[in-house]
Amino acid sequence: MVQSSVPMNKTEKEYRQDIVDIGRLVYQKGWVAANDGNITIRLDQDRILATPTGVSKGMMHVDDFIIVDMQGNKIEGRKERTSEIAMHLTIYGMRPDIRSIVHAHPPVATGFATAGKPLNLALLPEVIIGLGCVPLADYGLPGTPALTEGMLPYIPKYDAILMGNHGAVCYGEDVYKAFFKMETMEHFARITLVAELLGGAKALPRLEVDKLFDSRTRYGVKAKAGALPGCPVVAEDLEDQDRFYVTRQELISLVDEALKARGVA
Ligand SMILES: [Zn+2]
Repeated sequence: MVQSSVPMNKTEKEYRQDIVDIGRLVYQKGWVAANDGNITIRLDQDRILATPTGVSKGMMHVDDFIIVDMQGNKIEGRKERTSEIAMHLTIYGMRPDIRSIVHAHPPVATGFATAGKPLNLALLPEVIIGLGCVPLADYGLPGTPALTEGMLPYIPKYDAILMGNHGAVCYGEDVYKAFFKMETMEHFARITLVAELLGGAKALPRLEVDKLFDSRTRYGVKAKAGALPGCPVVAEDLEDQDRFYVTRQELISLVDEALKARGVA
């Protein structure tokens, strides 16, 4: 298991309170129903503090949490493990630069995930700077390794991932950063939906997107995603989609066909 490169700068008690606070926000924002979702914080090299199964994330107490080792075995806590703990462990294993993970089912972003659509258009400066784009991982049965399988190619490169027919997962250096990434993603999903209803969102051109990526250092953003092909999709990519290529002979027959259809030839 990879050691975390992020220093621990709070006490375990403070981290427990952070999860209570973030859980309440996640619930109040309507990103979960009933007992959905889970939140974890990596306490140190060997221990993960996690929300248990079967509790509403809006009504948790600091004593509700469990601690698991990096193999997922429970080492502390009265309640039971969530079946999604394996997904968290996989992400921590692949991302030593993060210390917290938030998984929820925010309804608009999850709507995109159930419609089979990633949130990948270059539309808004804050989203391009903070997330790059949000890819869509294939559906996998919860509680099995299949849940994370589709996410594996995206975990090293992105901080927010849509999970097909399920929800979303976001992670960062602390639980607040993970939460804010999910907030940015859900806000982006809502804006994208409105733009689609109004006739379609207009993507920014490559030059502007590159300028936004360059400005990340100025804003102190350590986002992973950037300058990957198709993330985000820029205006020029969409123009390319509308374009199609034919041979000289194909073009002649197309023109012939069009002329015949109009009774010219
Ligand atoms: Zn879930």
